[in-house]
Formats: sequence, structure tokens, C-alpha cells
Amino acid sequence: MTEKKRFYILGMGRSGLSAARLLRSRGAEVVIADEADEKRLCEPLQELSGLGVQMICGGFADPQDVRADVIVICPGIPRDNRVVRVADKLGITVWGELELASRFLANDLIAVTGTNGKTTTASWIHHLLITGGRDSILAGNIGMPLSSLVSEFDRDTVGVVEVSSYQLETVDTFHPKVAVITNLSPDHLERHGSMEQYRAVKARIFANQRPGDVTVLNGDDHRVRSLASRVPGEVLQFSMTTPVEGAYVSDGTIVLRRQGREEAVVAVSELGIRGAHNVQNALAAVCAASGIGLSAGHMVEGLMSFRGVEHRMETVTVLDGVTYINDSKATNPESVIMALEAISEPVVLILGGSPKNASYDGLAQVIGQRDVRTVLTGQTAGEIGQALERAGVMPVAVTETLQEAVDQARRLAKPGETVMLSPACASFDAFRNFEHRGSAFKEIVHGYGNKTRHRESGH
Ligand code: ADP
Repeated sequence: MTEKKRFYILGMGRSGLSAARLLRSRGAEVVIADEADEKRLCEPLQELSGLGVQMICGGFADPQDVRADVIVICPGIPRDNRVVRVADKLGITVWGELELASRFLANDLIAVTGTNGKTTTASWIHHLLITGGRDSILAGNIGMPLSSLVSEFDRDTVGVVEVSSYQLETVDTFHPKVAVITNLSPDHLERHGSMEQYRAVKARIFANQRPGDVTVLNGDDHRVRSLASRVPGEVLQFSMTTPVEGAYVSDGTIVLRRQGREEAVVAVSELGIRGAHNVQNALAAVCAASGIGLSAGHMVEGLMSFRGVEHRMETVTVLDGVTYINDSKATNPESVIMALEAISEPVVLILGGSPKNASYDGLAQVIGQRDVRTVLTGQTAGEIGQALERAGVMPVAVTETLQEAVDQARRLAKPGETVMLSPACASFDAFRNFEHRGSAFKEIVHGYGNKTRHRESGH
């Protein structure tokens, strides 16, 4: 498939680099380009040196100038990029990194897309497969690009892939055995134009499926549910309330229904992570695991032992009776509201970061109705403070740094309460990304634990 072909990769990010390595390992000729200049591309250039890849910095050359047979575009590069448009005009094939990687794999793939809950659902499916005795590799946003993992697949390995709408724009033959759409809300519309277009892109996840394949749809989300008529394979739905073919909640128990046969799987209260949205994620995971042939009995352990994904309502530790939760991934107010819904105890909430053009009024109202005290930090502290005031609540403290915010929160929290970093904002005012911020939070919290232990042991 690749020998004697000349591939032109746009973008030297993680996906571009893995695509280059994969293609070189299969004997293809590779040209890779990035718009950044040589100084900023130091690391990737070093990684690629010695691989026999032709590298272009400071802009994308035209496809005919590099004599490209196939163009591979990375997730960060829009489908309407000038080079891609030229390629389309010249009839040159354009693949995304996911399309490329999947062409090297004959394995069963489970692909997960949607507006929210992709990472959690994909990770939970992977966990169910592993604890259920199957071999699985997790790829996509959370882990590594699929192309970097191709050589690790054995014959029976299932690949679980988290797929963004950007990646779906550039698939052609990509054909998952099980496709999952978690939910669709009007997010990312700036790139896709309209909700209908966004839905159409998401529908590409099942477009190449055949009878015998399975598509898992959120039965409680009308935008997702109404895609059922376009699905070529079998449809499984999940619902928090309605008995559907698939998975649903009945009297506090998750029930799996396939071909009319119903089985109680596990009680909602026994799930490894909390929150209504995580029950939905569990239901989606149950459908997907069933779609790949795992029995209900083989899912029980994995449903109970899943501990969630780092930086997403991650319980860091319990210290002096106070639970510390790292929800650094909550970079918008809606995610914080969801997180608060999942906690019944009083909360000391650390909010703030860099702005993302969001309104904090809805969140402020939820805070006003609950036993939540807030510590504000970062660039948006003032703006959030004003929203809280409008809702008739006052922040307990405003701090400069995350360290000071966590110190304050620790002083405020009583045994039985929860301290949660769920900032409602991006992290770029003080951190590289939300992972960096979450790790900093965890380090601060673990620091308290170490001091406590030192005191206890008399040091
Ligand atoms: P994604 O990968 O789609 O960004 P994640 O699994 O990383 O989603 O979860 C990110 C945040 O989105 C979580 O911290 C939670 O607040 C929220 N979330 C998770 N699952 C769902 C869901 N099923 N519906 C709505 N929101 C969710």
C-alpha cells in the first residue's frame, strides 16, 4: 500500500511525527512540513533526523512541488487549508492521521466521538475489555495517536479510539466495528458552521459500517438518537430512563438488553466513579463492550473498578477527612456545574484561570443554591467574582497563585467536606495546559500529605 508512494504530511505535531515514523517503517517516501520556523521546530526536527524524511519548515509547499501521491493532514490543520484545496483540485488523495493508521490495521476498532465524555467513555471501554479478559489498546486524544501504536497490535487486540470531529472530516475508508456517539451539543460550531453540518461530520463515524457492525447512540439526546435511521449496522441505544435495546437504568440498576433479552449488570451505586454524566458514560461503555462480544458478567468487575481519567473529577486523596478532587479539565462553566451535581457534600471550590469568553452567571446561580464556598484565582478571578456578586454570593478568598488558592481551601474545609479544583477556565495564564495545572494541584495536595506524615513520624 505504501511502497513507492510519496506521502506529504502537513504538521509536525505528535500525530505528524507518528505518521512519519509509521510510513518510513513501511518503506514509503515521506515529506513533512510545518508552518512554524526552524527554531520552534527544534524537537520534532531532532526526532525525525536520521529517518530519511524530507523536512520543510516555515510554511507548506504546494503538493505538486513535492510530488505528493497522498497528503496526510494532522488534526490541528483544517480541511479547508490552502494546500488541501489545491490537492483536491489536482485529485491528490487526502487522508487524516486516523485514516492512515486504520489502513494498516485489520483489527476490530471501537471508535468514540461526541461533544462531551469521549475520553472517559473510551477509557472505560478499554478498562472493561482488559478486566473482561480481552486484549485492548487505547488510542486517540488521551493516549497516543493510533499510528504510533500500529506495531503493538496482535491479531486479537481491539483498538479503542477516541475520535474528534476534526479527525472525522478526513476519514475515507475508516471502518470501526463499533461506533459510539456520546452526545451532541452546540460546541465547536465555529469550525463546522451549523449544527446540521456538525451532526453530518459525526455521522461519518458509522458511514462505512456494514450489517454486523454496531453503532451506539445516546437515546436521551434527540440530536444523536435521530441519526439511527442512517446507521447501516445494528443500533444500540443507552438511556437513563427508557428501556431501550442496549443499556438503560431501571430501579438504580444498569440493565443490558440485546434482542429482547434483559440482564441486570450492576447497581449504579457500585460504579467506580460518581456523577450522572458518568452513569451515561458507563451505559455507553456497556453497549460498546457488548457490541464487541463481551458478556454482561465479564463487565461487572470493570464497571466497579474504573477510577476515571486523570484531571477529570479525579480523587487525589483524603486528608484529615477532606477529599481533594482534581477536575482541571473542567475548562468551561457547564463542566463545573456537572461536577458539582456529582458531589453531595459541602464543597470548597477553586475557580479561575484564563478567559474563554464564557458567562459565569449560570454557574454563580448554582453555587448560590448549594453549600459551596469559592476561592478565586487567576486572570478571571475578577470577572467570576462579579458574577457571584450578581447571584448574591461572595467569594471567600481571592488569591494570586494556585498554591495560595489550595492553601486557602485547605484552611476552609472541614472533615467530611470536599476541596475541588474545577476552574471553569482555560489554564494558559499560569500553566502550559490543563494537564500541567492538574498535576500542579496534585503536587500541592500531596505536599500536605507528606508534611502530615513527617509530623506523625516525629521528623
Ligand atoms: P471529552 O474527551 O469529550 O472532552 P472527558 O471524558 O474528557 O470528555 O470529560 C471532560 C469533562 O466533560 C468532564 O470533566 C465532565 O465535566 C464532562 N463530561 C464527561 N462526560 C460527560 C457526558 N457524558 N455528558 C456531559 N458532560 C460530560
